[in-house]
Amino acid sequence: MMNEVQQSRLDLRSDTLTLPSAGMKDAMAAAVLGDDVYEEDPTVKQLEDKAAGMFGMEAALFCPTGTMTNQLAIKAHTRPGDEVICDHLAHIYRYEGGGIAVNALCSVRPLQGINGRISAGDVRDAINNPDDIHQPPSRLVALENTVNRGGGGYYDMAVIEEIGALCRSHQMAFHLDGARLFNALVETGETPEQYGRAFDSISICLSKGLGCPVGSLLIGKKELIGKARRQRKLMGGGWRQAGILAAAGIYALDHNIPLLKEDHRRAREIERIVKQYAPVAEVLPVATNIVMVRPAGGLPAAAFVARMREQGIYCVAFGNDLVRFVTHLDFTDQQLAQFEDRLKTGFMQG
Ligand SMILES: *Cc1c(COP(=O)(O)O)cnc(C)c1O
Repeated sequence: MMNEVQQSRLDLRSDTLTLPSAGMKDAMAAAVLGDDVYEEDPTVKQLEDKAAGMFGMEAALFCPTGTMTNQLAIKAHTRPGDEVICDHLAHIYRYEGGGIAVNALCSVRPLQGINGRISAGDVRDAINNPDDIHQPPSRLVALENTVNRGGGGYYDMAVIEEIGALCRSHQMAFHLDGARLFNALVETGETPEQYGRAFDSISICLSKGLGCPVGSLLIGKKELIGKARRQRKLMGGGWRQAGILAAAGIYALDHNIPLLKEDHRRAREIERIVKQYAPVAEVLPVATNIVMVRPAGGLPAAAFVARMREQGIYCVAFGNDLVRFVTHLDFTDQQLAQFEDRLKTGFMQG
């Protein structure tokens, strides 16, 4: 038998959990469709043109996942035997199934940044000597913004520009895993165009805070997107009337970006509440919609998650000592109030 707490689950495991809103479903139902493998789906084209235009870049490719857009970019920028430079916490390195090795046949130079963010100095020290035949050619630098494992923090534009200049002077490509880029933009007030100028390619997820059921976009130069389109097909990712999903993406870009601010406010409230009522040793600085908590007294992350679950609160363990909460479109102020009530009355008293 389910009790009342279990019935009203407060699910903060991920911002991928959101369900399409009524307005988004209406947009999907009304979408004009065609076959995207023939490049004849007008709604897919509209989404791709819209995204490319927002970033001031030439072209875009709509794909099922952010893993695919990242992997297509890495493959398109490199040749087998090249090396990719990124932080050791990067999604492309940790959470894409070793795809860099499998798809692009490249090695990775994982750097020890700070909360998942690397500096131009870190990158400079990691660039191999192109004349030394012992070393793989350093071909690509990839940043992640916001940083998932790093607690949702974001980069300073000055740091990005410095790393970009380094890439250009060493003939290296510069890719952004911007799965949650818009979470950074609503905080900094920076524009997608600034990012379009800084990077050679950008991946953004529509399926996270923007609330789409499915979808990511790779944005970049025409030539790169052409290569990515070919590789997507090779991987079985040529999809037909994908416009029904692209319509959700257009809706999200038109309506849901400013709402991310609300997710961030609720994340700061989660921080306050867990600090007040749960046994936490540390909360990583909350910058956007991710709250990373280190349980106190050596309590394993899995045990912390299990005790939260007894209160109907769903969060996830990251390794043995970190727990992640993520706010999203389907986590309301009313649920936030329930979150506080449950921790106040039920959690870990004594
Ligand atoms: C979610 C995410 C991705 C892509 O994940 P998919 O589930 O493949 O869409 C890529 N990078 C980061 C940082 C992410 O959080």
